[in-house]
Amino acid sequence: MSKVKKKVKVIKIDVDKCNGCRACEVACSAFHAKPKYSSNNPARSRIRLVREPLKDVYLPVYAGEYTKAECSGRDKYVIDGKEYSECDFCRASCPSRDLFKEPDSGLPLKCDMCEDDPPQEKPLCVQWCLNDALTYEEREEEVEEEVKLEDVEIGLESMVDKYGLQKVMDTVARMTKKE
Ligand code: SF4
Ligand code: SF4
Repeated sequence: MSKVKKKVKVIKIDVDKCNGCRACEVACSAFHAKPKYSSNNPARSRIRLVREPLKDVYLPVYAGEYTKAECSGRDKYVIDGKEYSECDFCRASCPSRDLFKEPDSGLPLKCDMCEDDPPQEKPLCVQWCLNDALTYEEREEEVEEEVKLEDVEIGLESMVDKYGLQKVMDTVARMTKKE
C-alpha cells in the first residue's frame, strides 16, 4: 500500500502544569452544547480530568476512538511518586466506565479538535487552559493510503463478475454472522 502525507492534529499534555481547574471541561462542553454555549456540563466534555486532589493527581485526557470491548490491562503505574491506573491514560470510550459517553443517550464522545461549526483556529480547551498544560500541535506524517470507496466498489464488481452476485452476498452474510 502506498504512503501519503497527512496533517495530524494533537494536543500535548504537560501534567506538571495542570492544577485541576477544569476550565477545559467547561469550554469543551459549552462549545458542544446544543444550542452552542447554552449550558456547560463536564459529563458532556470531550476532555476530562482524572482528579485526585488529596494525592495531587490532575491528569487531563481527551477522548479518542470508541471501542466496543474493554481491554484486560489493569496495571498500576507510579510516576513521580503518584499512582495511576492503566485506564487513567486511556482515551477510549469503552464499556468499563462512564467516561466519554453522552450522559443522556450513552453515545460515545470523541474530540473533534473543535472543528465543529464554526471551526476554531485552536482547540477551545487549549485556549482556556491558562496554565499552558495543553498545547496544540499540527504536524505532517506519512500514513498508509486509505482505501477509497471507489476501490472497494471496483473490487466488489470484479468479484460479482467472477463468482456471481448470489455467492458474494452469501459470503458477506456468513462473515457478518461471525462478528
Ligand atoms: S479540542 Fe475541542 S473537542 Fe477536543 S477536547 Fe478540546 S475543546 Fe473538546
Ligand atoms: S484548563 Fe488546563 S490547568 Fe485547568 S484542568 Fe484543564 S488542563 Fe488542567
